Amino acid sequence: MGTRPKEIFHLFGDLNNLSGIGPKTIINLKNLSIEKPRDFLFNLPFSVLDRLPVKSVRGVASSQIVTVEVLVKAHKFSRSRASAYRVNVQDAEIGFQLVFFNARKEYLESLLPIGERRVISGKLEFYEDVPQIVHPHHVKKINDEKPIFRFEPVYPLTSGVSQKLMSGTINGLLENLPKLDEWIDDELLKIKGWPSWQDALKNAHCPISAEGASLTDPARQRLAFDELFSHQLSLSIARNKIKRSKGKANTVTGILQTKVLNNLPFKFTEDQKLSIRDIIDDLKKPERMNRLLQGDVGSGKTIVAFLGLIAVVEAGGQGAIMAPTEILARQHFETLLPLAETAGVSLSLLTGRDRGNLRNNKLTDLKEGKTDVVIGTHALFQADVIFKDLRFAVVDEQHRFGVNQRLELGKKGIGVDLLIMTATPIPRSLALAQYGDMDISIIKQKPPGRKPINTALISSSRIDEVVDKLKQSIAKGAQAYWVCPLIEESEVLHYTAAERRFEQLRAKLGEGVVELVHGKMSSDIKDKIMDRFVSGDTKLLVATTVIEVGVNVPSANIMVVENAEKFGLAQLHQLRGRVGRGTNQSTCLLLYKEPLNISSKKRLSILRETEDGFKISEVDLNLRGSGDAIGTAQSGLPRFRLANIDMIEMLMETAHQQARYFLAKDPNLETVQGKAVKNLLWLMDQDKSIRLITVG
Ligand code: ADP
Ligand code: MG
Repeated sequence: MGTRPKEIFHLFGDLNNLSGIGPKTIINLKNLSIEKPRDFLFNLPFSVLDRLPVKSVRGVASSQIVTVEVLVKAHKFSRSRASAYRVNVQDAEIGFQLVFFNARKEYLESLLPIGERRVISGKLEFYEDVPQIVHPHHVKKINDEKPIFRFEPVYPLTSGVSQKLMSGTINGLLENLPKLDEWIDDELLKIKGWPSWQDALKNAHCPISAEGASLTDPARQRLAFDELFSHQLSLSIARNKIKRSKGKANTVTGILQTKVLNNLPFKFTEDQKLSIRDIIDDLKKPERMNRLLQGDVGSGKTIVAFLGLIAVVEAGGQGAIMAPTEILARQHFETLLPLAETAGVSLSLLTGRDRGNLRNNKLTDLKEGKTDVVIGTHALFQADVIFKDLRFAVVDEQHRFGVNQRLELGKKGIGVDLLIMTATPIPRSLALAQYGDMDISIIKQKPPGRKPINTALISSSRIDEVVDKLKQSIAKGAQAYWVCPLIEESEVLHYTAAERRFEQLRAKLGEGVVELVHGKMSSDIKDKIMDRFVSGDTKLLVATTVIEVGVNVPSANIMVVENAEKFGLAQLHQLRGRVGRGTNQSTCLLLYKEPLNISSKKRLSILRETEDGFKISEVDLNLRGSGDAIGTAQSGLPRFRLANIDMIEMLMETAHQQARYFLAKDPNLETVQGKAVKNLLWLMDQDKSIRLITVG
């Protein structure tokens, strides 16, 4: 394993080695995620103050921050410390006042001696038409060795950490930046017009224009790129590691696939065909597959995965699908069983409910290879589940896996090909952030013939009307979901709210028509309730969000979501995707609690305008804006500190390509530039990746 290069040791030393920083400050700095000297350098200013240099304050607008040379004329000391202490000064054209409160006379007399010249900087204001500067930010002698810079960085701070401490420490570090070889490709650097790493840091912290903190500032862009590049390098290194570990080259005949295709009641969409081709191509190659299948709800991912599974069975191996919940596992099993039978493929279902002999028999069948394809929950990854020859594992992802967990999943067999399916339609830049270690196939089109879903926003004060309409629709044969909101403060409240709503709806709609399902129920009971809904005995299913409504019930055509304003757009989109699967016209009613603020209204309105999940996620992202920390739990994204969401959109694709391109040339980072790239990884704390390379 390599060790951190000497040149950057001091950036990873103890903070108390830095002058002016003691134990208390070190604790406060944690709030800014500053734990090492390096982190100071990464604490970039969020804006730039323009200290406009002027000869005179005459004609300057109120609130402008100015820097001006003055002659000190007189001190007007007031006896009561509470009232203002004024210093009359004269610039090139007019006289004005500097104002201090709670000031010490001796101090101000030495700071601003009468008859001497000083350069001062501060915010100009007017008091009864007289210009004044209250508490100037800077007062300097004419040829002070530390002059007032026109552009001053404004840093994110926390209590106990001042602007002065921040800029002082950072300036100290900037004087001692290590000389490191360039890790960015020359050509890219030229095209973008980016400065070197050292210069980028200097420019970012000592801006040369008021735009110094803007997105388009080359220094900022470069630093953001460094971060994204190192991130993509790590993901690519992980990817290479998977690829290097040998997979099996499956000899795919197409015989079983043809049987399945002949029995499909529909034709594949183009995107489905392309995805199937990607998957089968991967399966044939001796390298390991590490692929993401991204497709909106209802885009038909399951059947795509199934064709891959059938292909490995043709080649004599086994396959597995892992679903996030039992209900979904069972549903996959039931929809795929007829297709499996026509192809003569033996399909088995394994969940946490299987116990005793039943479970043992299933395990034996898997071990002896009598089962070709197994569908299950995470129970599949328990130690006693042994395959004869697992070649292809599909993970239907509702929960999210980190890169390392994905590596773990592949260990269930030797060189298992891995496909992860996600219904989160995030923009490509973010998909790369989250899944940059994988190859990506995307299904954008929906199967043809789906009718658009009517989506309406309705105030919850009109809930009675909604229930009446629902009753009429159900009388005409409709089936509906009613989703109760999560009450975060209390799980108990959450269930009682759902139960109360269930009681009310049952009273209105009649016994036997309405059922309640929630996450606290045993799987047996849940399954029975779902069965009755699928078969059409139950007309209205009241559910908490704790239960995955990720089921496919084509006859269900109404979705009611209570307190829709509390949900994320992506979540609402997923919920709505549960209807509109059959041939009937579908409706989605989003009930909201008044008053609804403008931004919430705007958010919810998007759902009325489009059903395109990719579009929805893009708008959602833009509405949340750059201010939103994108490392939020919901997005599952890594946390970046130099690149904000806009930078990610601008630069991630390039970072991704550069990383892959570079590692293809120099997989072990052994060339001169490779060593420079290694330095970047060290700087960015991507030591784990360096270890992956060195372990081999
Ligand atoms: P998801 O991508 O959300 O997992 P599913 O795989 O559950 O979607 O598919 C949703 C429904 O669409 C299923 O009933 C499936 O049989 C059907 N389906 C899949 N592909 C097509 C197609 N090309 N044409 C028509 N229906 C399709
Ligand atoms: Mg699915």
